[in-house]
Amino acid sequence: MSLSILYCSNCKKYTLKETCVCGSKTITTRPAKFSPEDKYGAYRRAYKKEHAKTL
Ligand SMILES: [Zn+2]
Repeated sequence: MSLSILYCSNCKKYTLKETCVCGSKTITTRPAKFSPEDKYGAYRRAYKKEHAKTL
């Protein structure tokens, strides 16, 4: 189960349901500024920094 925000291009509304009340299939929104890869990259860098400090 995902908690990602879905978007209905038909109603131009955001929803959490895979199918909108209008019957259209919603699409997953992926804001470029909140890329999961970037987030993990930041964690990885932080971890690496922390790890290097202990060595
Ligand atoms: Zn809709």
